Amino acid sequence: MAICFERGDNMLKGKSAVITGGVRGIGRAVAEEFCRQGADVLLCYRSNEDAAIKTAEDLKKYGTRVELIKGDVADPSHGEAAAKMAAELFGKIDILVNNAGITKDKLVMKMSASDFDEVIQANLSGSFYFIRAVAPFMIKQRSGRIINISSISGIRGNAGQVNYSASKAGIIGMTLSAAKELGKRGITVNAVAPGFIETDMTDILTDNQKKSMSEVISLGRAGKPSDVANAVAFLAADQASYITGQVLGVDGGMAI
Ligand code: NDP
Repeated sequence: MAICFERGDNMLKGKSAVITGGVRGIGRAVAEEFCRQGADVLLCYRSNEDAAIKTAEDLKKYGTRVELIKGDVADPSHGEAAAKMAAELFGKIDILVNNAGITKDKLVMKMSASDFDEVIQANLSGSFYFIRAVAPFMIKQRSGRIINISSISGIRGNAGQVNYSASKAGIIGMTLSAAKELGKRGITVNAVAPGFIETDMTDILTDNQKKSMSEVISLGRAGKPSDVANAVAFLAADQASYITGQVLGVDGGMAI
């Protein structure tokens, strides 16, 4: 008898996840892939009510639980509230995806202290607050997956992005330290470093900027949010249980 097995389906069945910035762009694609694979999700968003309601509505078709919480990741109390809510709703927190992020690009001499601080607060401190908030639950369970979204800019640097690349390099350092600290408690901590992905964040680039970026991508095209989501889902699944402290580039060969 032939057994038909669709690879990748249900890899996250019964898992519960907290995803920051989960209603737009890469975060939304991660949320969709997680739901498609059977996970319940708590999606954190900051301001975009329409996107939040639409995403929650769209993802209902997968039959898993989709819940929303509004807040600013730069506020330490938001991470605490989200972790508490997920634990109450789902009874556990299996996965955290630190995805929320912003850019405020300027050349270094024109960058204000607040341009620098805001990006560090949202991208780096926000990820720290969420890790700190979910860690007690994961330690108690003796299992957990933390996936932090870094960037090729945090590895290679990028002109006009000293704030952003510092935040994304910081995320890599934080990933390595947290992986060392939490490994013996059954928790893996990894980072994903996307290259040039088509979302609202990159839509503000000029056609010339997009063209010159695409020219240095080995695969010759910009990535899609689903390209990143597939990598995140892999790191969240049981198949990746012996992988920790890694930075997985999802950049079509841009960093080579
Ligand atoms: P988008 O701009 O499309 O989405 C960003 C998301 O982050 C939104 O959901 C937004 O919520 C949320 N967010 C931003 N700031 C905060 C905050 N202070 N508190 C809570 N939520 C916040 O970006 P992408 O989908 O492109 O990016 C997602 C992640 O991937 C980011 O960390 C980014 O740095 C990273 N990345 C993206 C690349 C790309 O080419 N697109 C390349 C490399 C890394 P809301 O809409 O409610 O404001």
